[in-house]
Amino acid sequence: MNQTLTEISVRTSSHTEMIDITRKVQEAVSRSGVKDGICVVFVPHTTAAVTINENADPDVQTDFMKEINKIVPWEDGYRHMEGNSAAHLKASMMGFSETIIISNGALLLGTWQGVYFLEYDGARNRRVYIKILGC
Ligand code: ZN
Repeated sequence: MNQTLTEISVRTSSHTEMIDITRKVQEAVSRSGVKDGICVVFVPHTTAAVTINENADPDVQTDFMKEINKIVPWEDGYRHMEGNSAAHLKASMMGFSETIIISNGALLLGTWQGVYFLEYDGARNRRVYIKILGC
């Protein structure tokens, strides 16, 4: 089986942030030479996550972050001594991986879909693993 593992760096600049990493994921697919297969994007952190959502109107990202922050407020009498329980909760809610089909050497995303790295306790230097399997 043709396979590759790529690690990319993501430098976040805000406490809470949504960063489009679609181009970086596609570059890893292109470099792998895999034409048909599966791409797994995995975030190895406990206060950051990955999701797929609209990449056309940036207001969607603004609304997305605003509403998630309302659902899980930063201060709410949490017990976790590090003081970032909200970030842990939001990361698990959004999840740490996405699986995307590769077809003809490209990510088989919908017209309006992009892959987003979600920062919930930045700013930090973060990592993302991209596993590509040809099949
Ligand atoms: Zn913590």
